[in-house]
Amino acid sequence: MKKILIASVVAFAVNAGAFAQDWDNIEITTTKVTDDLYMMMGEGGNLGVSIGEDGVFLIDDQYAPLTAKILTAIRELSTDDIHFAFNTHYHGDHTGGNENLGKEGIDIVAHDNVYKRLNDEGSAKEALPIITFNDKLTFHMNGMHIKTKHYHSAHTDSDSIVYFGGKNVIHMGDTFFNESYPYVDVPGGGSWSGLLMVVKDTLGNIDNQTQIIPGHGPLTDKGGLQVYYDVLMDIDSILTPLANQGLSLDQVKELSPLSKYDGDYGNGFMNPDTFIGIVYTNIFNSLDK
Ligand SMILES: [Zn+2]
Repeated sequence: MKKILIASVVAFAVNAGAFAQDWDNIEITTTKVTDDLYMMMGEGGNLGVSIGEDGVFLIDDQYAPLTAKILTAIRELSTDDIHFAFNTHYHGDHTGGNENLGKEGIDIVAHDNVYKRLNDEGSAKEALPIITFNDKLTFHMNGMHIKTKHYHSAHTDSDSIVYFGGKNVIHMGDTFFNESYPYVDVPGGGSWSGLLMVVKDTLGNIDNQTQIIPGHGPLTDKGGLQVYYDVLMDIDSILTPLANQGLSLDQVKELSPLSKYDGDYGNGFMNPDTFIGIVYTNIFNSLDK
């Protein structure tokens, strides 16, 4: 019979917006990635912004209290209409502004499972994507072919990676936490093995000049993604044998098997204790026993 480990991290809050937040002190900063393509940071997931002759294409929208600041930052780049807001996945730190944008008449686009999960959460009609897709979708605008590709089970079951064709820029959503431990939302359909697969697949689709907007953390390139992949693969090679031995999560934590990474990677969204709880449990439960 298959033993199932239950992670002791259930109380962990997915939507960081649930705690009191001093929104007034948050600034939206804009980083130019290449001609007419920008990354913006505030609180929550990194935004991607394409401007051009066909209007603004926005990736993700952080939290509702930040919508006015985000729109102001976009207006400094372009006064054209915002044509689409694309959600890389369903989490509230990437979709919290949907309702405000939907009420402005901006078309929200995302994978089918973003619609499903936001709808299941009881989101307002205006917060739901008006266009969804099941595998791949291409936007032909601003002189580019903006290609989106869905992965079934990685950070969540609703993840898309966006390729700005012709610009050699991609937005990876939360399949990439640059310079910190990633969050795998297992109840949200994510999986550790699926996350490894997305990163490997993406490394095969880009070159040394590709610039990468991660879901969280600074702008980077293929070298930065390779480091992330190497760390994740090393963690996998450390934890999988422990799971094969049948060790409990508490026994694994006693060993502190990831201590060499905790200092550099454990200060972000995932602290070391929560990270190992989620990942070890997912690896353990994925083994054939
Ligand atoms: Zn996320």
